[in-house]
Amino acid sequence: MYDYLIVGAGFAGSVLAERLATISGRKVLICDKRPHIAGNAYDVHDAAGLLIHQYGPHIFHTNSREVFEYLSLFTPWRRYEHRVLASVDGQLVPVPINLDTVNRLYNLNLRSDELEAWFEKVAEKCEHIRTSEDVVVSKVGRELYEKFFRGYTRKQWDLDPSELDASVTARVPTRTNRDDRYFNDSYQAMPLHGYTRMFERMLAHPNIHVMLNTDYREIVKFIPHKEMIYTGPVDAYFDYRFGKLPYRSLEFKFETLDQEWLQSVGTVNYPNDNLYTRISEFKHLSGQRHARTSVVYEYPRAEGDPYYPVPRAENQALYKQYQSLADATAGVHFVGRLATYKYYNMDQVVAQALTLHQKIANGAPPRSAE
Ligand code: FAD
Ligand code: UDP
Repeated sequence: MYDYLIVGAGFAGSVLAERLATISGRKVLICDKRPHIAGNAYDVHDAAGLLIHQYGPHIFHTNSREVFEYLSLFTPWRRYEHRVLASVDGQLVPVPINLDTVNRLYNLNLRSDELEAWFEKVAEKCEHIRTSEDVVVSKVGRELYEKFFRGYTRKQWDLDPSELDASVTARVPTRTNRDDRYFNDSYQAMPLHGYTRMFERMLAHPNIHVMLNTDYREIVKFIPHKEMIYTGPVDAYFDYRFGKLPYRSLEFKFETLDQEWLQSVGTVNYPNDNLYTRISEFKHLSGQRHARTSVVYEYPRAEGDPYYPVPRAENQALYKQYQSLADATAGVHFVGRLATYKYYNMDQVVAQALTLHQKIANGAPPRSAE
């Protein structure tokens, strides 16, 4: 008899498996319908021997010391600060928009304080910031919004920024200095030997049994367990009873090139040209040395594996219906990006899973994670 059946071996499921086994001494069966662990963070060496991320570029960053220290139990790190350029008006300029972005695009020579005044002049007043359009035009004005955000967002989400919650474009800051790092967080690093190796170490515990290529529906009735932790899409768990929750998907196109480098930074965004949103080059992320280079193009799709919850009011209302069902489902905990329908980064999922473990350890009754 297992204490827990955990559905999904991504961050949410694997952190819980590790904590329940190591700290709480529980017996855990963790299954995944995919042929590998690590969920969307899975990385693997391709035919050329280059470490690639099968589900798109994953860069670790967090402000949480607790999360960083927890993951440090399973991996050493490599310092890495992600940098992104955007192809705009025939130039490659830094994103997030910063002092150099504006000076280069407009052939100016502003200082930081002058850029603040410049932004104030071009920004549109907006009393209540509700949408992803409001966030950007109220800071940098409509022209930069159109150059950097409107086309990218329409391509990525098939929605206009005015139809998406503010939280989506608010992920990308605006700067008046020359800082060209993509993230602001105090911890920015990559697992030295990759994510998959880190997950292998998390799950290497005598109390944890891993079953791959296994949809939980095939085993849930036959394998005795006391409770379940579910990290798949919440609407699928309830057989789409209230209708499908929108998730956005991507198609990844990988290429290995017979040259040492393709681009000068980890990612180049294409807000207005091409059908793909961005190209990422893995050697920047991994630090690997190799005569060739592997890159991935991301093509947004409506159908396919569910990767992104779509943050907007009507979807949140539908999710709330599923959340009520989840809360009322005794013996099942819902946790992770798909099961709680939240546009969470890896560190936020780790934090959510650690919180759920704490609740379980404290003997709280089963319910979906906050
Ligand atoms: P997942 O990793 O999706 O794991 C859920 C698992 O459940 C999957 O492996 C799935 O196969 C399994 N499953 C589902 N249904 C069933 C079933 N019926 N039976 C058995 N198994 C099932 N975050 C960052 O912090 N930095 C980044 O740079 C970053 N980049 C990203 C880029 C892309 C393109 C995407 C899509 C996401 C990115 N993220 C990034 C977010 C990150 O991937 C997630 O926060 C994290 O992987 C979520 O972990 P999870 O365990 O909740 O879900
Ligand atoms: N975004 C944009 N232009 C950019 C970068 C981001 O319009 O150059 C918007 C877009 O809507 C995107 C969102 O900001 O989906 C969040 O960007 P992020 O890079 O965090 O996306 P993720 O890495 O999660 O795909």
